[in-house]
Amino acid sequence: MQQPAQAKAYQKPERRCTGCGNRFPKNTLIRVVRSPEGSVSLDGTGKKSGRGAYLCRNPKCLQKAKKGNRLQAALDCVVSEEIYATLEAQLAEYVHESDRK
Ligand SMILES: [Zn+2]
Repeated sequence: MQQPAQAKAYQKPERRCTGCGNRFPKNTLIRVVRSPEGSVSLDGTGKKSGRGAYLCRNPKCLQKAKKGNRLQAALDCVVSEEIYATLEAQLAEYVHESDRK
């Protein structure tokens, strides 16, 4: 089903998922942040400083972002295999957590 184009009364900030490119309400996305020191991690609070990119809760989107090097482009830094592995594990936890609620 399609949402009406204008939903004026109900505006929430939206961000684009780096993987699928769809827009989602910001609070449903997982933020990946590159700290000023250059380390890449997931930001569960959305408050870490640094350059951020967003992923929705579909694990495939991390794979898509990886394949297209989109996370690297969005964060403007090299994202190593190791980081992807960490993100994947953390992402799985997030999804698991939200399933339990
Ligand atoms: Zn996505």
